[in-house]
Amino acid sequence: MLRDPIQVTVWGENIHEREDPAVRAIYPTGMHGAVASGIAEHLGEGARVRTALFDQHEHGLTDEVLAGTDVLTWWGHKAHDGVADAVVERVHRHVLNGMGLIVLHSGHHAKVFVRLMGTTCSLRWREADDREVVWTVDPTHPIADGVPSPFVLPEQEMYGEFFDIPRPDELVFISTFSGGEAFRSGCCFRRGWGRVFYFGPGHETHPVYHQPEVRRVLANAVRWAYGGPRPRRTTYTPELSPTGWFERHDGAPGR
Ligand code: ZN
Repeated sequence: MLRDPIQVTVWGENIHEREDPAVRAIYPTGMHGAVASGIAEHLGEGARVRTALFDQHEHGLTDEVLAGTDVLTWWGHKAHDGVADAVVERVHRHVLNGMGLIVLHSGHHAKVFVRLMGTTCSLRWREADDREVVWTVDPTHPIADGVPSPFVLPEQEMYGEFFDIPRPDELVFISTFSGGEAFRSGCCFRRGWGRVFYFGPGHETHPVYHQPEVRRVLANAVRWAYGGPRPRRTTYTPELSPTGWFERHDGAPGR
């Protein structure tokens, strides 16, 4: 059966790539370019992948763009505080209404992720070119499909526990590091009608998004966060009324 391609928007901060020649050498088309190509490589005509950047008008995430996005991926680090609250609010609303969100690496401190989690999302970290080993802990999970377990990132920033997130609804990967630390590096959450996946690997000075296993994870995660054709709320976010029933913002009873 033919179906519409998954509409994917890859959001990139694109600051390290512009400011640091070493990062630009690894990612000449930006980290967003590598993430987008990894997804497109696996999903082919099953996805339409576009990019949006921090320095674009409204960070490239207008209501129109988000309404046309099934899955948004997010890589940010330096400019978390510079992301406009109105855009954070908008992305948050679209996730609750059914848009998938994939948060990568240092995106753990992105305003929208912290808001969706409700915790600090802080973690232990060390930039010392540790060897990271990524282990699948849920072999039947669609995000682990075709991903060798374990696979190795020869050099990576260490992200370790305690990672201050709510208990994930589904845990797909854990990572171990040459320094001995462990980290929940592949975590699934449901928020409202939306699906959220956090993936740890992706420090800007290492060619992580060129690595085949990681590109497979990204594509699998897009498919999972999309979740297949399903209803998507577009006009309202439910709020619990004093009577305990959901109501629409216009006051009409919702479902
Ligand atoms: Zn990093």
